[in-house]
Amino acid sequence: MKTKGHVIKKVLPDSIAEEFELEPGDKLLKINDVDIEDIFDYQYLVEDDYIEVLIETKDGEVLLLEIDKEPDEDLGIEFENGLMSEYRSCHNKCIFCFIDQMPKGMRETLYFKDDDSRLSFLQGNYITLTNMSDKDIDRIIRFNLGPINISVQTTNKELRCKMLNNRFAGDALDKIDVLFKAGIEMNGQIVLCKGINDGNELEKSIIDLMKYIPVMRSVSVVPSGLTKYREGLFPLESFEKEDAGKVIDLIEKYQKEIYEKHGVHFIQASDEWYILAERDFPEEERYDGYIQLENGVGMMRLLISEFMEEYNTLKPHTLEKKRVVSLATGVLAYDTLKHMSEMLEDKFENLKVNCYKIINNFFGEKITVSGLITATDLMDQLKDKELGEKLILPNNILRSGEDVFLDDYHLSDVKSALNVDIEISKCDGKEFCKSILTDEYLNAEKEDNGNFVYIDVYDKYKK
Ligand code: SF4
Repeated sequence: MKTKGHVIKKVLPDSIAEEFELEPGDKLLKINDVDIEDIFDYQYLVEDDYIEVLIETKDGEVLLLEIDKEPDEDLGIEFENGLMSEYRSCHNKCIFCFIDQMPKGMRETLYFKDDDSRLSFLQGNYITLTNMSDKDIDRIIRFNLGPINISVQTTNKELRCKMLNNRFAGDALDKIDVLFKAGIEMNGQIVLCKGINDGNELEKSIIDLMKYIPVMRSVSVVPSGLTKYREGLFPLESFEKEDAGKVIDLIEKYQKEIYEKHGVHFIQASDEWYILAERDFPEEERYDGYIQLENGVGMMRLLISEFMEEYNTLKPHTLEKKRVVSLATGVLAYDTLKHMSEMLEDKFENLKVNCYKIINNFFGEKITVSGLITATDLMDQLKDKELGEKLILPNNILRSGEDVFLDDYHLSDVKSALNVDIEISKCDGKEFCKSILTDEYLNAEKEDNGNFVYIDVYDKYKK
């Protein structure tokens, strides 16, 4: 008979598991005679300084290991299933869901709609709380986990039910109160849909969520992403420049008020609003330490700050011979990267940087982030362009840790189609300088920091 348990995928070197000669393929059955439901249980149970671990080896032998260890010391095991349980899919059908707007025929995993609180802690995913049981909430409180990232959308219960297409979505908001009372750190997110949860509804949501400060650390407001595949879906409209201005004005009004009271800005507009409204990004301090960077909140400000810090230390320099490099990015970051490239060209004679704006034909022109650019669009739009020595691409264009694009092309396919070397660069201002200047950057004499004069990337271009 097959025994239940969690199959070990990897035993880390110099770990307790290695010392006890555990091997990939062995199964963890119990810890301290307790069945392990998932990764939360596991992490909680291994915390003690003495634990009894029941293992079934791949040969079917059952062993009880008595382990003395430091309280926080891990066993050094990775499991075949990272969550140690099935992934939970969502119970909603949100009117703005991106997955519903994807073309058919893509990799199957891209269509999986997860809404799993364990992924919120492990990977920072945002969850709606609609499929969390009281037991889940109890465990979060008992294990004192956090922060938990919550897709709020609106605090109007009736409207939330409509937006999520789930009659339990309104009452699920009550779980925020329970988490708040238990002091579990939270971050919120509001995906804004034009004419639905914006305007007065947004204002009400901000006011309602303010009462959770400081346990709730931040709330981001991001526009719903609309692809060209919306046939048969709820009719949503795109935000225009004027709408974006109104969203920013409302958010900035509350940032001011909240900062005076609590010393944090709390409610944050994502970068897209500022670009759409054609306004400057807020100053660094406004992002409260960039809590919601992963949500596209403050990414451009951080990139500019890092770039300028580096740029201002570089002495003007003439490259020995003319060098041409190129970079490609989505519509969203294009203007900023173009300005930054031009500033480097000004400082480094003989350097030419071709900056290319990639229109997202795959998902539709309204999708402007570089993370959703496909290899197909890159190859189509760059095929006749001057690419020079190398093409620089942001690392978020590839699947994390792999060299595969969203449409399953490999980096090598794009390299050979465009006949150019490709360098993947971190979305970081210093790395940006380094990727473009390479040896010249590394060898260039730096300015004495005493002469550091801070200029903003836009100051130059606003004149
Ligand atoms: S919670 Fe909503 S947006 Fe998220 S996957 Fe489910 S339906 Fe899509």
